[in-house]
Amino acid sequence: MTTVHRTCPLCEAVCGLTLTLDGTHVTKVTGDRDDPFSKGYICPKGASLGRLDEDPDRLSAPLVREGDQWREVSWPEAFAAVEKGLKAISGPERAIYLGNPSAHSMAGALYGGPLVRALGTRNVFSASTADQMPKHVASGLMFGHPMTIAVPDLDRTDFLLMLGANPLESNGSLCTAPDFPGRLKALQKRGGTFIVVDPRRTRTAELADEHVFIRPGTDAFLLAGIAHTLFAEDLVSIGLPVEGLAEVEAVVKDFPPHVVEAACGVPAEVSVRLARALAAAPSAAVYGRIGTCTAEFGTVTQWLVDVLNVLTGNLDRPGGAMFATPATEGPRRRKPYRTGRWASRVRGLKETNGELPVATLADEIETPGEGRIRALVTVAGNPASSAPNAAKLAKALERLDFMVSVDIYLNETTRHANVILPPPRLLATGHYDFALLNFAVRNYARYSPPIIDTPDIETPSAEASGAAVSATEGPGTERPASPTTGNRPSESEILARLAMIASGYGADADPAALDEMIIGQLVGDHDPAELDGDDEAEKRLDAMLRLGPYGKWNGGDLTLRKLRDEHPHGLDLGPLQSRLPEILTTASGKVELAPPEIIEDVERLRARLDEAHPEFVLIGRRHLRSNNSWLHNIGPLVGGTNRCTLQINPADVDRLGLGEHALIQSAAGELTVVLEPTDKIMPGVVSLPHGWGHDGVRQRVASGNAGVNVNVLTDEKIIDPLSGNAVFNGVPVILCRV
Ligand code: SF4
Repeated sequence: MTTVHRTCPLCEAVCGLTLTLDGTHVTKVTGDRDDPFSKGYICPKGASLGRLDEDPDRLSAPLVREGDQWREVSWPEAFAAVEKGLKAISGPERAIYLGNPSAHSMAGALYGGPLVRALGTRNVFSASTADQMPKHVASGLMFGHPMTIAVPDLDRTDFLLMLGANPLESNGSLCTAPDFPGRLKALQKRGGTFIVVDPRRTRTAELADEHVFIRPGTDAFLLAGIAHTLFAEDLVSIGLPVEGLAEVEAVVKDFPPHVVEAACGVPAEVSVRLARALAAAPSAAVYGRIGTCTAEFGTVTQWLVDVLNVLTGNLDRPGGAMFATPATEGPRRRKPYRTGRWASRVRGLKETNGELPVATLADEIETPGEGRIRALVTVAGNPASSAPNAAKLAKALERLDFMVSVDIYLNETTRHANVILPPPRLLATGHYDFALLNFAVRNYARYSPPIIDTPDIETPSAEASGAAVSATEGPGTERPASPTTGNRPSESEILARLAMIASGYGADADPAALDEMIIGQLVGDHDPAELDGDDEAEKRLDAMLRLGPYGKWNGGDLTLRKLRDEHPHGLDLGPLQSRLPEILTTASGKVELAPPEIIEDVERLRARLDEAHPEFVLIGRRHLRSNNSWLHNIGPLVGGTNRCTLQINPADVDRLGLGEHALIQSAAGELTVVLEPTDKIMPGVVSLPHGWGHDGVRQRVASGNAGVNVNVLTDEKIIDPLSGNAVFNGVPVILCRV
């Protein structure tokens, strides 16, 4: 038995784990008590890491589809098939979709960008436009860069106002905070207060000092009402150089609390009380997350979150909303952030952060004409399950001329691919959280080297080698072992090889050439021979650490060797520091409080003030044991009570005379759902979790707990126009008896 330590890659909390191994088999997973950031915290997902890593349904060899059959092939054969498929299709007709796990993987962070550039396309899609793009756009416009995102200084704040966030289930998002529940309890213990605004009384709301119900998708009204009160009662106190204060005061004039009350359902006296409490607290932070992002006014809402942080003097000061200083942070050019540098071909939706909205991916595949998407690369993504109107996208995928997926599973999306390239086990892969440490509530770094070797594929019996298997095996189906394929490439090598193929260098080209070029650009005048690392990915990490704010090439002493060898449990880099105006990259060099695009969109919000409300609106739901669609094949995480239920207020059940099931209909589609009456949800609101509806997948546990896909109901035509983000909260629906 051996004991090893590494970061959990399953959610944004980046907890340290301690794994007990019997050979390469994981026998036990616990929280790493010596990790200075997570201090031993672990959730059920992290405890199941070994089961995920050794899931017998994970693909162990590349698959090539022939009709409705899959054939396991060698890696050289798989890459040759990719070369053949991509070669015939020009750059503008190619597309890529990067799924959520790519943000958690070192390979995704290091090779995702080069792969996008190599494909030569502007058809770039990701889970960001189904999740968080409003935060990037609002932050980009206010602070100059879409990754300059303020997070609540959780460990020091006196008052936290949280909207549309449920960290007791999600463990935090765009706010990296292991043991988020413990940090909230500590806030209360030191005499602080936290208030949750949510259409459901979530577990987080139950822990809070106060829960305020709000009509889904209307958080912008409440926040504008609070801003109005701050100006009206002379409570504005700003300690920073800002531009556009007068414009903000002018636009929120139309949103007094007694007017927004009808739109958002929050009583005027509550809005006024929240404004006064925010202004009076010794330190305070406003934090809005997924429920407020995946809504029609997502960007305006995220803007208002930080407007309130600024107006109350809490931006960039201890206990307020602050900016992390990640160890791999590079220089940011002072260049105004812009969106809409190009637009989607069919619907004319604008680009944000170099991406197009996933809500229009199906249109771009289906609609004939020059530039139609004919080839798609997916990396760790399942948009056929997670995109709005997923059924439309699944159908569109059938029309592609070629599709290659990098994924560990044969799932709702990868079943449409021509070639699937499965990365090796997580434990065979190095891990560093490049993206998530940008949003950490404490400065911290941790590198987890590979624990096991990237193994050769097991040698099966001769007759099994190359055997064809059904595209959709059911539960209990025995699958043949994999053919011998030689050394299995790392995830980094898979992506690097795809980039080489997409660039026209061919399937046999050495991907080291790509790394050499990138490292050369990265190190500048420094000597690349100084870099440490067993592979090119580690060398690139070493270069970034050395050049970063604590790095050896930047006046500090941090290197990969130091981090890996002297700090195997992680390195605490201290509490968040005030960073303004140093990190602002706006044209003015100040916080831009009134970006013209946002001010213009406030007009759209104003026009909604008097609009009638639909009888029912649909919202999503998270669960601690789930992470979108990809952890449903792990028995301990999905067993027990059915979680794929429609939560509904008992008063609505009685009023409509509903039974155990109901038919739910939207503009996009309809579903028959199991009802879960509960007074934890507002009347007029219903909630269905996402990530379910497993269909035609080679995942035996998930197939046996299929559930229904909420994205049959979500409508791809409705988006937040500033960010292109899909709308999953506040979807109008009708309920009928079945
Ligand atoms: S909270 Fe997230 S990072 Fe921590 S153990 Fe659970 S899944 Fe892993």
